[in-house]
Amino acid sequence: MAVTENMVRDIVREVVAKMTLSESAAKSHGVFRDMNEAIEAAKKSEEIVRRLSMDQREKIISVIRRKIREDAEILARMGVEETGMGNVGHKILKHTLVAEKCPGTEDITTTAWSGDRGLTLVEMGPFGVIGSITPCTNPSETVLCNTMGMLAGGNTVVFNPHPQAVKTSIYAMNLCNEASLEAGGPDNIAVTVEKPTLDSSAVMMKHKDVPLIVATGGPGVVTAVLSSGKRGIGAGAGNPPALVDETADIRHAAEAIVNGCTFDNNLPCIAEKEVVAVQSVCDELMHYMVTEQGCYLISKEEQDKLTATVMDEKRRLNRKCVGRDAKTLLKMIGVEVPDNIRCIIFEGPKEHPLITTELMMPILGIVRVNNFEEGVAASVWLEHGNRHSAHIHSKSIDHITDYARAMDTAILVKNAPSYASLGFGGEGFCTFTIASRTGEGLTSARTFTKRRRCVMVDSLCIR
Ligand code: NAD
Repeated sequence: MAVTENMVRDIVREVVAKMTLSESAAKSHGVFRDMNEAIEAAKKSEEIVRRLSMDQREKIISVIRRKIREDAEILARMGVEETGMGNVGHKILKHTLVAEKCPGTEDITTTAWSGDRGLTLVEMGPFGVIGSITPCTNPSETVLCNTMGMLAGGNTVVFNPHPQAVKTSIYAMNLCNEASLEAGGPDNIAVTVEKPTLDSSAVMMKHKDVPLIVATGGPGVVTAVLSSGKRGIGAGAGNPPALVDETADIRHAAEAIVNGCTFDNNLPCIAEKEVVAVQSVCDELMHYMVTEQGCYLISKEEQDKLTATVMDEKRRLNRKCVGRDAKTLLKMIGVEVPDNIRCIIFEGPKEHPLITTELMMPILGIVRVNNFEEGVAASVWLEHGNRHSAHIHSKSIDHITDYARAMDTAILVKNAPSYASLGFGGEGFCTFTIASRTGEGLTSARTFTKRRRCVMVDSLCIR
């Protein structure tokens, strides 16, 4: 029997899945015992990357894209197995999106002014070695997007990934280093340590050779990075509301909201975390959610059980519930449902702990309001000033405009699932680092560069 490429890939998949963390770290490029060693290696490779032409950088990025496509399933399975969170099929889609829509060197542009007094250029130059702290919710997606963007900008990157997702993150970094070597670039364009901890991230934050730190995660890590005394990019938490008004196509709204909310079991920071619906359409919305979109409406007693299961009395999340599917969560409170149930819904006040907390679970609390204006106020309150993401279902341009102004978020999706904001079923590029807190918005290669003005007086203006 002839051995096909697919058979080889299946064998590799099995071997990788069975490896322990230390085995996979030992076999991977870019993994060091100590953070100082990792930064030193990234610094050496950065000196080479800095001198690569844009064309050479793009060649490496195109090999990374090919390898992501080839390994999308391995990466998806590893992520779910290691973290216990998310959905394999959806994670495959996320990796394919990264391969296709994460920007490369085309994002690096030059601005020029030419006139009587000569020529002035503003170019986007590299920072050097960038420090990146990554979450367990999109572990490999974030590593891959950040490495591609940072490399396109002429940088290398040292990661301090989430301890719960080290193996998956190392696999993604190894993929990038192998791609670089295959395309004639250096090793160690993306590095890390075998055991990332808060101590290793503190070393990274203080290191003289790391001028920029990018934090993707909850409020704690963003605050830590912004207190480091260095330039920081803060991609923090969200709690995106989806507002539905009386002008919306209610059936379509139900479908879009549930699709967005259940994507990768609600792990993406942009995903619908609660719904605010005006009184006149609220019942109809819930009707479509239950009868057509696989939602299970829980009773008051089940809400209390679910609250006590998914969080403690201090509202700290039970990590065993984050990123689990609706059927599993319901089973935890003794409710058996068929396989087509994909979301848990209930109506409650905006102060309900399952509504006001960023759960990252397919649980949608629905807040009923008297009118659009009340809905805007409730949505602003529920977003907690994160200025991250907000979504609306409405056919009124005035309502959409008022909502957008009031929410003031990095992302606002109208009449579509939240993932349209990442270029999935919508226009625009993809990223998994959305710098809500520091204002860069959706990050791309240009975010990871610094501006340099280069001036020639009274020459090179040829006209
Ligand atoms: P998390 O905050 O627990 O961890 C994120 C990373 O920060 C991990 O690597 C962790 O080890 C590190 N970390 C945490 N506290 C730290 C500290 N004080 N100092 C240094 N490092 C620290 O988040 P998570 O559970 O991995 O991810 C979910 C959270 O991240 C959610 O709040 C979600 O909204 C947010 N998130 C935001 C974006 C975005 O682009 N804005 C993307 C993904 C996730």
